[in-house]
Amino acid sequence: MAEIPEEVKQEVWRLHNGECIYWHNAPFREGLEYTHMEEHRGMGGDASKNTVMHIGLGCKQCHKRFHSRGAYKIVHFDPYDKENGLIIVSHRGKEVPKHHLWFYNRQACERLGKEQERIEKLVSESHRAIWEVANYLEEVDTRGSAKALGYENIYELGAQFQLSSSKVKQLVKLWRFMQEYDLEPGDTPIELAQVLKRADKKGKLEDAVAMVEGVRTGEVHIAEFWDWVDQELKEERVRKAWVGKGKLKKIELSEDVLFQKDPDEFVLKGGSLVAGVGLEEEE
Ligand SMILES: [Zn+2]
Repeated sequence: MAEIPEEVKQEVWRLHNGECIYWHNAPFREGLEYTHMEEHRGMGGDASKNTVMHIGLGCKQCHKRFHSRGAYKIVHFDPYDKENGLIIVSHRGKEVPKHHLWFYNRQACERLGKEQERIEKLVSESHRAIWEVANYLEEVDTRGSAKALGYENIYELGAQFQLSSSKVKQLVKLWRFMQEYDLEPGDTPIELAQVLKRADKKGKLEDAVAMVEGVRTGEVHIAEFWDWVDQELKEERVRKAWVGKGKLKKIELSEDVLFQKDPDEFVLKGGSLVAGVGLEEEE
């Protein structure tokens, strides 16, 4: 095969950012080779076609796919056309999906990377917005101003912001809680405030505040934070159920309870059948 001129190599490298253009979803730079796209069409190299339009950049692993049994073939190549510039088909004639190829994924990743920043900003603004709503509802509630504003109560006012009554109740409570402990919500997610409230109930508010502060300053990764919540503030979900024949027993079901269907033993009021530990007898 004829030598590929150095300037062509440089341009190909620049064009593809020194990355394998084939089967990857992240930059891959190891053991890259220049190859004539004609070879990948099964036609051998052609020195008259030593231009960027005919030279590809790929790693050894990907190149193998063009030369093995049942090989793939390139049916179209235009390095400047990032929408449709690389069409590869399997030996059965099936086109390789674009999202399998770094040729297309690279620019998608660039776009997604840029969007991430914008989305982070949006999320942070949405957190601020919900706290503004909480603050607003709380003040209206405290002053009893709902009627003066033309609403029956704060729930009707909340509906104006597309909020359910329980959400309104929750927001007002959380806002008061934050004020009580002199916590500045800023762009803290509402979920973090709920954690603080839970921590308070368990006497671990100080630790929780430190963790939330860490998340805010970036010292604590959010994943680490939720792990901590799972460990320290694990809430045992207890559901109550009525079981029995004739005389009903009230039982509490934690998530650890193994449900055993046994129609002769217990009948759960409401329809389902469970067995459980009787806690207190009721009429
Ligand atoms: Zn590759």
